[in-house]
Amino acid sequence: MNTEPRGLLFDMTRCWGCRNCVEACIAEHDFERDAEQTTELAADAFTAMKEVDDLPVRNLCRHCVTPSCASVCPVGALQKTELGPVVYDASKCMGCRYCMVSCPFDIPRYEWHATVPKIRKCDMCIGRMEKGELPACAEACPADATTAGTRAELIAEAHRRIAESPGDYLDHVYGEHEVGGTSVLFLAPKEMPVLGYEASLGDQPLPRLTWQVLEHIPPFALTGCAVLGAFAWIVRRRDQLGQHADDGAPQSPSRST
Ligand code: SF4
Ligand code: SF4
Ligand code: SF4
Repeated sequence: MNTEPRGLLFDMTRCWGCRNCVEACIAEHDFERDAEQTTELAADAFTAMKEVDDLPVRNLCRHCVTPSCASVCPVGALQKTELGPVVYDASKCMGCRYCMVSCPFDIPRYEWHATVPKIRKCDMCIGRMEKGELPACAEACPADATTAGTRAELIAEAHRRIAESPGDYLDHVYGEHEVGGTSVLFLAPKEMPVLGYEASLGDQPLPRLTWQVLEHIPPFALTGCAVLGAFAWIVRRRDQLGQHADDGAPQSPSRST
């Protein structure tokens, strides 16, 4: 298998709006929700689609090349993998939700109503990828609007499409440079100032800015998050230890999305 960093390309001009991608993601994660109604991300919706100016706009984690969510996480629960996906380890998460504050695309969601809440977001189907399979959304797309490949191949393909049909596209590959580059890339027919489909985010990786951003959040809010997060983490660890003691099983960290 090619081990270069991988990604996804969403070409809005090819998309039929059929929502097979949303449905496939729901099925892949055994969620129970209606793809037609999935217009916003949620703890049980890792991708969503909504119409803006009669165009289908997909939303999902961008899997940033230098992710601010991972950089700001105090316990390393979010990590950028060599394969490209930014993955989450629930066993490390202390629930502080700094990742939610820091993400420039407003992606991570929190299981507010769960007894042991986790951060939830797309993991680019890394489990499938490790088996040599396509991400479920790319496999399900009948229109070649969501495609998977190495990031380098996708950028080249995106520029090829623009060069071949300049009248159909804005001459811009969203994600090639924004916030230092993302592994999920987008082509659009025109300026789309929604969901991060705009160049105003700048090309600088945000981790360097992250702590500057957090400096502007009132200290009591961050302290409150940290205290609540630490409390949740302690309760969870106690539950885990209790469960392992009951099982007599050794403890092993597991990745969860
Ligand atoms: S889009 Fe947000 S959640 Fe996804 S990798 Fe980038 S910073 Fe992290
Ligand atoms: S890559 Fe996988 S987890 Fe991410 S949106 Fe597509 S199907 Fe869902
Ligand atoms: S499956 Fe493909 S064509 Fe259908 S909505 Fe998703 S991206 Fe568009």
